[in-house]
Amino acid sequence: MPTSLPEYELYAIRYATREGLRRDNFIGGDPHDGPMPMAYYSWVASGGSGVYVIDTGFTAEMARERKRTFLRCPVDSLTLLGLEAAAVRDVILTHLHYDHVGNFHKFAGARFHLQEREMAYATGKYMRYPRIGLSYHVEDVVGLVRLNFKGRVEMHSGVVEIAPGLTLHPTYGHSDGLQSVRVHTRRGWVVLASDATHYYENMATNRPFTTAFHIGQMLDAYRTLERLAPTSRHIVPGHDPYVMQEYPAAKPTLQNVVARLDLDPIAPALSFAGPARH
Ligand SMILES: [Zn+2]
Repeated sequence: MPTSLPEYELYAIRYATREGLRRDNFIGGDPHDGPMPMAYYSWVASGGSGVYVIDTGFTAEMARERKRTFLRCPVDSLTLLGLEAAAVRDVILTHLHYDHVGNFHKFAGARFHLQEREMAYATGKYMRYPRIGLSYHVEDVVGLVRLNFKGRVEMHSGVVEIAPGLTLHPTYGHSDGLQSVRVHTRRGWVVLASDATHYYENMATNRPFTTAFHIGQMLDAYRTLERLAPTSRHIVPGHDPYVMQEYPAAKPTLQNVVARLDLDPIAPALSFAGPARH
């Protein structure tokens, strides 16, 4: 059936990294422990009805505070794509963890889309527990509260189409109000999982990441991602370094910096030993 949906270009900007061990990335640890570094991304969907920035990363100051390796400011990096933060009208926040919402103040003309449930969680009673609250930076959360008083926060409840070819989907569990983003591209629907699966391996082996609010919902969220994507190669995890090798660079000079997720992968899918999917 012909579709009249717009086709967005979809970019992943890698802005930071950290070292880590396999046991850090799976609930229950890992019997074959070894290095398993993490990448940090911001994403941009461009085309159709405009430009949508999806998550805003963290600042250089936050990188110092949390001892992450800061490669580049995700907001300044928009210029690599010919974009300027001041001109962005819509920012989608998958959730309010520090590595997804820092820099929000640099989008002076934007409104921010998130799940109402994420705001309730981030301002709710569980933040008193460091195991949960430390994933948030209180000034980010307060900043979003202030923006809401200015009418600049769109809080959604459940699945929503915010523009033709661009839909938001609850994938609760990692945080109580996490959402994933489905973007229509020239290769069909691409699902930005964000932290619904940090790595390909979390989802492929049904072993959730260690930062968790509700483990059952995290497992169910993998099924949601599967339903939303035409194939497993249309699901993009939130923190997997492999994404930069898997997809073509936006330009030859942007190798390992900006990847094109709307183009077919140029490297094979990873495969994993582990328990069956279901
Ligand atoms: Zn994250």
